[in-house]
Amino acid sequence: MDSSNEVVSPKILVVEDETAIAETLEYNLTRQGYTVFMSANGFSALQMARQEAPDLVILDIMLPGMDGLEVCRVLRQETNVPILMLTARTEEIDKIVGLEVGADDYLTKPFSMRELQARVKAQLRRVRLIREEIHSAEEPTNDEAPQPKKLTFGNLVIVPDRREALLTGHPVQLKPMEFDLLLYLAHNRNLVLSRDQILEKVWGWDYNGGSRTVDVHIRWLREKIEANPAAPERIITVRGVGYRFEG
Ligand code: CA
Repeated sequence: MDSSNEVVSPKILVVEDETAIAETLEYNLTRQGYTVFMSANGFSALQMARQEAPDLVILDIMLPGMDGLEVCRVLRQETNVPILMLTARTEEIDKIVGLEVGADDYLTKPFSMRELQARVKAQLRRVRLIREEIHSAEEPTNDEAPQPKKLTFGNLVIVPDRREALLTGHPVQLKPMEFDLLLYLAHNRNLVLSRDQILEKVWGWDYNGGSRTVDVHIRWLREKIEANPAAPERIITVRGVGYRFEG
């Protein structure tokens, strides 16, 4: 009998208050065969962790009430469950994985589902190895290059390192913010992104300009990269939510 054919699917607790990201995570992880529990704030996350004893916790830092760092500290005192933190700020990484907070791994927003799944598998494999007391030389982490050298979408090519976009081989004149926006959309292609999410990531979360700013920049960007800006085929408006970049 092959003991690796597990009947019980690993339980994952996802703590994320941003609906668009939470739904994407829930959908993808469920489809991967995990049993997923969702929580949108720190207090209910702790309750759920105690009640369901998940095999892995995916924990966003910015949460209403008790933030993710505090939740992580408390969980660490109670359990050895692997904790994968989500952060929009790279400055916090040392703190997150350091002794002070004690997360096992982190992902910087925006991240791809492939990246997330690789981290999830690595963490689950790690605990399974520890539980079964198997000492293997196998390297569990799967570090992919964070940014591809070129992103190609038909006749549109984005070169992140050079901060350059080409349309049928010709450079597109983009302002720095427009390029950042395009790159963010491209990295999150085929995902529905809320205006708040876009604001948080591209403009920084302290920005108070409102979602109009996003709409205006999207309009400018469309004029530069769409064949017909009035009938966009790359940056699609998702009614009542935000935008989706077709990849
Ligand atoms: Ca959040």
